Amino acid sequence: MMRRAAATGLISEAQPVVGFLDTEGIRASVASLNAAFAHAPDVLHTFAVKAASLVPVLRLLAGLGMGCEVASPGELRIALDAGVEPSRIVLDSPAKTRQEIREALALGVAVNADNLDELRRLDELRPANSASVVGLRVNPQVGGGSIGAMSTATETSKFGVALRDPGARDRVVRAFAERPWLSRLHAHVGSQGCPLELIAEGVAETYRLAEEINRTLGTRQITSLDIGGGLPVNFDDDETRPTFAAYVQALGTAVPDLFDGRYTLVTEFGRSLLAKNGFIAARVEYTKEAGGRRIAVTHAGAQTATRTVLMPDAWPLRVGAFDADGNPRTGTPLPQDIAGPCCFAGDVVAHGRELPELAEGDLVVLYDTGAYYFSTHWAYNSLPRPAVHGFMADRTGSVRLTTVRAPQTLDEIAAESGLAHADAMVSLGTVAEI
Ligand SMILES: *Cc1c(COP(=O)(O)O)cnc(C)c1O
Repeated sequence: MMRRAAATGLISEAQPVVGFLDTEGIRASVASLNAAFAHAPDVLHTFAVKAASLVPVLRLLAGLGMGCEVASPGELRIALDAGVEPSRIVLDSPAKTRQEIREALALGVAVNADNLDELRRLDELRPANSASVVGLRVNPQVGGGSIGAMSTATETSKFGVALRDPGARDRVVRAFAERPWLSRLHAHVGSQGCPLELIAEGVAETYRLAEEINRTLGTRQITSLDIGGGLPVNFDDDETRPTFAAYVQALGTAVPDLFDGRYTLVTEFGRSLLAKNGFIAARVEYTKEAGGRRIAVTHAGAQTATRTVLMPDAWPLRVGAFDADGNPRTGTPLPQDIAGPCCFAGDVVAHGRELPELAEGDLVVLYDTGAYYFSTHWAYNSLPRPAVHGFMADRTGSVRLTTVRAPQTLDEIAAESGLAHADAMVSLGTVAEI
């Protein structure tokens, strides 16, 4: 693959950093998700759009039967543009405006309210004949994982109704009693760094609450559970672990009745579907030495590997070393910093990494970056969003390529930087002139 990418000139002087997505790998990941849940009577698997906000990815997933989980007007727009049916879209934004809620309800998109105030907005805005399924997000407060910024189910998480706070359970039960149209409970507990048992415990807590509400109301008002996503990904080697099957097993242990058909289920996986199906390739522009440390200055830095650069201990990435033709570099490994192009000292994607010696013109690969990396660009230093290419190795062993996203041009960068308003600040004049 790297030889082909190098030979086609996809990685060039003009485009020194590029993202790649493996279409067959994505198909296989979706197949393993479907297989893991095959015994569940009625499941809608949605893809968390923020993990790979690319229309061709969403269309591929929609063709494989998946819906979308969206959390902003932009994500809703690209899901619709990808051709995803509104009834297969779930809106989870934590800060929905009235306009956003109105539009979702008009389309028939499912809405999970984040809190009781949002339910009161829904009271006002929901048309009597709305086709939207409406749910309430709860935080089972089962605890966080190893990455604080990624933990959604801590005591003080900003998401959902905190269930263990005094009086909260009663308020939730009352909210359902007052709204016969409120028919779903939502919890998204996991995230990178969470053990399976903890995620499963969060789902179990949500299930018990649904049972309690239905018992109290004397009717099965809650008909579906949205159990979120959050399956962690192994960034250490090529193996996919934990698997969807292992997660479903943990769910079955924590909630033996979860798959008995009493509730239809919604899932919202992101990272676990895409991370291992993508990588970043970038050119080495210079190599240098500073204070006895070898540094390869590449074009992959914080603009495309933001979390890894800003939180290197929480988000380490494997790095591959290739020559300019895409052949793996061999040779005695020596510790090297893999630095990026951004103008701040910490723009380093790997510190003191043991790799064969890199030279100008070589290519570095950042593995497992199919989710939340090149699709989630940071516009630092006016660096362009890199191109993304889809690939598929066909039966003859040759690789087919397709453009998923064109690289951002300098004209586009200028336009997004206020070019149309170039005179704006000058033309305000000065106080002295008034
Ligand atoms: C981010 C998010 C997801 C997806 O999380 P992953 O860790 O990528 O699986 C699902 N649901 C909600 C509400 C989210 O915010």
